[in-house]
Amino acid sequence: MKQIAVIGAGTMGNGIAHVFAQNGYKVNLVDISQASLDKGLATITKNLDRMMTKEVIDASKKEATLGNIITYTNLKEGVSNTDLVVEAATENLDIKLRIFKDLDEVCQSKTILATNTSSISITQIGAATNRPEKVIGMHFMNPVPIMRLVEIIRGYSTSDEVTETIMELSKKLGKTPTEVNDYPGFVANRILMPMINESIETLYNGVAGVEEIDTVMKLGMAHPMGPLQLADFIGLDVCLSILNVMYDGFKNPKYAPCPLLVNMVMAGKLGVKSGEGFYDYSESKKAETVSAQFK
Ligand code: NAD
Repeated sequence: MKQIAVIGAGTMGNGIAHVFAQNGYKVNLVDISQASLDKGLATITKNLDRMMTKEVIDASKKEATLGNIITYTNLKEGVSNTDLVVEAATENLDIKLRIFKDLDEVCQSKTILATNTSSISITQIGAATNRPEKVIGMHFMNPVPIMRLVEIIRGYSTSDEVTETIMELSKKLGKTPTEVNDYPGFVANRILMPMINESIETLYNGVAGVEEIDTVMKLGMAHPMGPLQLADFIGLDVCLSILNVMYDGFKNPKYAPCPLLVNMVMAGKLGVKSGEGFYDYSESKKAETVSAQFK
């Protein structure tokens, strides 16, 4: 493994590119939007600067990392001659199926195709290609340069050899890979999302306010962040889409998204990325609870 391509330069894609490049891999970062590529590179630079300030890396490491990344808006140019593609584009089934169909056509036959999806079936994505044995889930956690876990998801047809290769590669990135099978939500979100949904339900039922719920979980259960604050960081639209995948996949009402979550997404209150969710992230209020509505 020498040459990697990362598809999507958003929150996750730029973090994945950063980690590969810092570990000496050549990375082609591909996005349909030049603005996303510019923003992604600016984020990587900012994060490397922060690491320099903390003396985790020196200036030459920063330059070498940035020197390992080339950006592309053309998929074919970006992925030809790669050993591995890690797809981190928008969480949408149609978009992912289209990308994997295209990747299958333009990548060399040896290329492993991984996806960072939070919830979409690896088996379904693999079935859109003629190489389902080389399609695998490589689910990094946010923020990628800091979080150690990579959830490695085997699709129905993923081969042992490809799984082993990706497990070893993740270790070379300094991560701890954990192998799981391909069922809705995998392991991370199957356990996390019902907890977040129940926290929203608790709020919706008027049992307690936003800060009270988060305080109970932080101080009582030693969670570093309350579940409502965590939902704001993940993005309420992302939480809703993952819950819907589990609800559809298991046909079990316990995964039905809370109506308050549905309403907030429809109202465009998506959490940190939109400036408001359960907390207010505007400059003046910076993470105060949107208390009037929820107390
Ligand atoms: P994002 O919205 O921040 O970024 C998505 C990027 O994909 C955008 O820059 C967009 O321009 C690009 N894109 C869309 N269609 C494309 C295409 N056809 N070709 C190339 N680029 C395309 O999204 P994100 O939060 O980085 O999520 C990316 C993936 O990672 C999703 O599958 C998501 O479920 C998963 N994920 C997200 C988190 C999280 O906390 N945000 C955590 C783990 C996994």
